[in-house]
Amino acid sequence: MRKYVPEILIGAIPVVLAFLLFLGQNVVPVLMFAVLGFVVFYASRGRGKLTALSSQQRRPSKKENPFTFEQIGGQEKAKQELVEALDFLVRQEQIAKLGIRPLKGILLAGPPGTGKTLLAKAAAHYTDSIYLAASGSEFVEMYVGVGAGRIRDLFKEARSKAQKEKKSSAVIFIDEIEVIGGKRDGGQQREYDQTLNQLLTEMDGIYANEAPRILLIAATNRKEMLDSALLRPGRFDRHIQVDLPDKKGRLHILNIHASNKPIADTVDLERIAAESFGFSGAQLESVMNEAAIYALREEHEKIDEKHLSMAIDKVMMGEKTDREASKEERERVALHELGHAIMAEIIRPGSVSQVALSPRGKALGYVRHNPLQDQYLYTKAFLNGQIMIALGGAAAEEMFYGERSTGSRGDFDQAMDIVKTLVESGLTELGIIDASMMTKEAWASITRTILDELMGQTKETLEAKREVFTLSLQTLIREETLSGEEFRQLLKENAAA
Ligand code: ATP
Repeated sequence: MRKYVPEILIGAIPVVLAFLLFLGQNVVPVLMFAVLGFVVFYASRGRGKLTALSSQQRRPSKKENPFTFEQIGGQEKAKQELVEALDFLVRQEQIAKLGIRPLKGILLAGPPGTGKTLLAKAAAHYTDSIYLAASGSEFVEMYVGVGAGRIRDLFKEARSKAQKEKKSSAVIFIDEIEVIGGKRDGGQQREYDQTLNQLLTEMDGIYANEAPRILLIAATNRKEMLDSALLRPGRFDRHIQVDLPDKKGRLHILNIHASNKPIADTVDLERIAAESFGFSGAQLESVMNEAAIYALREEHEKIDEKHLSMAIDKVMMGEKTDREASKEERERVALHELGHAIMAEIIRPGSVSQVALSPRGKALGYVRHNPLQDQYLYTKAFLNGQIMIALGGAAAEEMFYGERSTGSRGDFDQAMDIVKTLVESGLTELGIIDASMMTKEAWASITRTILDELMGQTKETLEAKREVFTLSLQTLIREETLSGEEFRQLLKENAAA
């Protein structure tokens, strides 16, 4: 009977209106109240439940290909750790016999675009589970209790979907968990607190003998922001670091994304992997895609090295802009870039992979460096060398024009970041110190000391190569872009001359 209440009410309205009209009453105010009541009723019903849209978004379409660990490049350690954790779900009987408590949550932490979502999808496939995904920001609402309601619905949906599809487990993936799971500051953020509490309650309600079993996988790139209640044993107690790929990983990812594209035989993907140091999986996917677009624009049937090289520049620096620089400006930019490139070849021979004068993003020209090998530890000498390469542009401008321009701003930011690393790692004359105790004046003083000294050395080194600058300048202006090999050849010829 109760479930027919809305229908009875809707049926009663025209009867009441007809009766009022029969009595000769004005029905307009009654009608207005009825419409208002109707709107409020449906708006409140919408809240507290997942909206149709977000529920739709979360459901992977039936046609979506199952995603496997083989389709994820690099990340060998993360994959191995994840598979070990997932075996808890796969080998449920043995786990129960040994009385091991169920694994409830796995936290994937790492920079954006490294494949955390892919790992969660592959985990669902590996464990033959239902896969449901949501993002932390979907649970953020103005109204207290709505986020909590959505969490409840998400778990309910996972259980019912698993039952419907006759699966024994479900994987719920929550991206950007820090949005709801950030450290609680005891007060103001009541809505966030309720959402987080609901998530903790749902996690506490996962039992070993429950069917279907639910496994939560969350992803974040701000692990340090998470509330300790989320990370304690019994909740997200497996933490897997998903880092930027190393060279081998990058090659693997490039190969995966090249598999559906026609690549010219001359292309050396290993070289592209070496040149894309610091790229995430998502950026590598973008490199492959952009290279294919360049090939299409040039009506080539295959993607060649040039397309890939242009794609790396695009992903790293942004799209080419059509800013027209004056002749004087172009000459200054060319000398500036030569300053960086010549310094780089002196400090790390063979490391320049491209010198370009074409404006891209905010830069009027740029030098792309090839790190030669992946490196995770840096010595003082290495970092000083990096600073000198960064200062090379400004030093060249001073050498030829007697003054610098605003074009060195980004270089100085980069140099100052390296100074910060030097200070924090105890590699300066200040010795091992707590950098957080340093005053602004102390920072300014040490930065000035280091940069002044290295600027002096940079100018001295480049001054000895003044001839090389003048001989290379016109070639660079004419060609606009020189590859690393072309640039080294030019230096060799000019040095001999
Ligand atoms: P975010 O933290 O921004 O959500 P994420 O770490 O979850 O990022 P994904 O969504 O998994 O990143 O990756 C985005 C895209 O990048 C994928 O669809 C895929 O094309 C590509 N990609 C990222 N990492 C890899 C990888 N290891 N192997 C193959 N492709 C990858």
